[in-house]
Amino acid sequence: MRFMLVTKNEEMKHVKKTKIIKINAEKPEEAHLREAAAILRRGGLVAFPTETVYGLGAAVNHPQAIQRLYAVKGRPVDNPLIVHLDSYQRLPAVAVAVPPAARRLAGKFWPGPLTMVLPKKATVPAEVSAGLPTVAVRVPAHPVALRLLELAGIPVAAPSANLSGRPSPTRGSHVVEDLDGLVEMILDAGPTGVGVESTVLDLTGETPRILRPGGVTREMLEGVFGVGQVEEADPATIESGRPLAPGMKYRHYAPKAPLYLVAGEPARVNRYIVDRLAEEEKTRRKPAVLAYDEDRDYYRGVLFFSLGKREKPEEAAERLFSLLRACDEAGAESIYAAAPSRTGLGRAVFNRLWKAAGGNVVEVG
Ligand code: AMP
Ligand code: MG
Repeated sequence: MRFMLVTKNEEMKHVKKTKIIKINAEKPEEAHLREAAAILRRGGLVAFPTETVYGLGAAVNHPQAIQRLYAVKGRPVDNPLIVHLDSYQRLPAVAVAVPPAARRLAGKFWPGPLTMVLPKKATVPAEVSAGLPTVAVRVPAHPVALRLLELAGIPVAAPSANLSGRPSPTRGSHVVEDLDGLVEMILDAGPTGVGVESTVLDLTGETPRILRPGGVTREMLEGVFGVGQVEEADPATIESGRPLAPGMKYRHYAPKAPLYLVAGEPARVNRYIVDRLAEEEKTRRKPAVLAYDEDRDYYRGVLFFSLGKREKPEEAAERLFSLLRACDEAGAESIYAAAPSRTGLGRAVFNRLWKAAGGNVVEVG
């Protein structure tokens, strides 16, 4: 199914020329945004920054544009898209039976990195939700994204603006790397802020359930619903709302080299990685290490990328995807990553590393 779709759309995948536009992140130039909005309205594809990662936008009410979006990204057609709106007021255009909790959450976290899964309005094409009866929706907190959505005046589906399976784009240059020649326009506003994708929260059941940890943390959600009142899906069994065997259907966010995620008490994690590096010397693979500022001394003479200070997961979140791409560029043949603590934003960082590792983690105690 997936490959048939890609083949069918092979010709329409390529554009004559991608317009790459530098745009001011705080005060975006209106003329650029008008041009981008017009492209979206006529069914074209525009990559734009959000506060989490860059998104690749297509008009929700344009099934052909949505099909092309999947084809261009090489995205499996059973992985639904997040619909982006300019305000909570536009929610009735895509969702029905909106529970009171959604209003409270929107008041607190929108615009922001929280995606709510709600019952879908029938007029939203099945392509957008991958056939599910629900729709995922959010209002992004980035001046470029917000104003673009306002000018377009329509709901816009926007998955991350990378080729499927590659690390998500957090810099305009990442988008250009992946999508130049495939989309009509790329708006480059420099680095995004949060760096990991939005939290996906399912509001269709009795209890709110986190399907993907992200910028709005579990602790923040418990501030609204009460401690212990938010469920969290096990990422090993849930993907796109469907059960999965451990081992994972898709390897996500992945650099080219195999990634080994190591969790536990910091000194033990470092000792474990140092031992593995000694092993790597024998195999002549070129390893890279992703760890924290505090760990630098263990890795003199090794390709080392810092995830920031261990106690500041927002630093790791901001630079994670960029560093995974840097590992590729540096020609790393294996990557050892020291896991962050699984609290606050660290939970989202852990989740992305875990997916990049193909769902494996070495626990060293
Ligand atoms: P991306 O846009 O690449 O960040 O991925 C969108 C995420 O939202 C994926 O993890 C999807 O599985 C999830 N998602 C989108 N729509 C739904 C939905 N209707 N139900 C559950 N999860 C969804
Ligand atoms: Mg993505």
